Amino acid sequence: MRKIIYPGTFDPITRGHEDLVRRASGLFDRVVVAVAASAGKQPLFGLAERLDLARAVLADVPGIEVLPLEGLLVDFVRAQGTNMVLRGLRAAADFEFEFQLAGMNRRMMPDLETVFLTPSQEYLFLSSSIVREIACLGGDVSLFVSPLVAQRIAAKLNRVK
Ligand code: ADP
Repeated sequence: MRKIIYPGTFDPITRGHEDLVRRASGLFDRVVVAVAASAGKQPLFGLAERLDLARAVLADVPGIEVLPLEGLLVDFVRAQGTNMVLRGLRAAADFEFEFQLAGMNRRMMPDLETVFLTPSQEYLFLSSSIVREIACLGGDVSLFVSPLVAQRIAAKLNRVK
């Protein structure tokens, strides 16, 4: 069985994340979306909310599981009985950080393989941070996130939708 771990903050899950998960689900038997607490990033949504949104948005994807990730990624990957990690690459800007992350994780877990996928073109410039910024400034994010996520952002920002 081929199982891959897709770690991230998912604050909140976007159509770009969703696109990657759907692609991975066609390539692997199981895809575990590992939602990091990322307390240092002061997320807009708490861990429980981010888990909840990811589960709802990905409910129809076969072989998917959404779990919290609180410790070190390599420990989580080992505990899940796999050695594969999925990350997304958008523009060139992602490359340096992702390359460093993959390299450091491999130093800690030599048999670790990081698999990179690219999203559909329409999501190449999409990030959770841009979605949060657009929403905070009163913009419409419905092109970038699922209707449920758009609704939760609006509620969080105290706007009626
Ligand atoms: P992190 O805090 O780990 O960067 P994110 O939730 O922002 O968490 O992203 C998780 C992963 O998903 C990263 O590898 C990121 O490059 C990827 N990703 C985010 N948005 C997109 C997108 N629109 N298309 C493809 N990959 C994406």
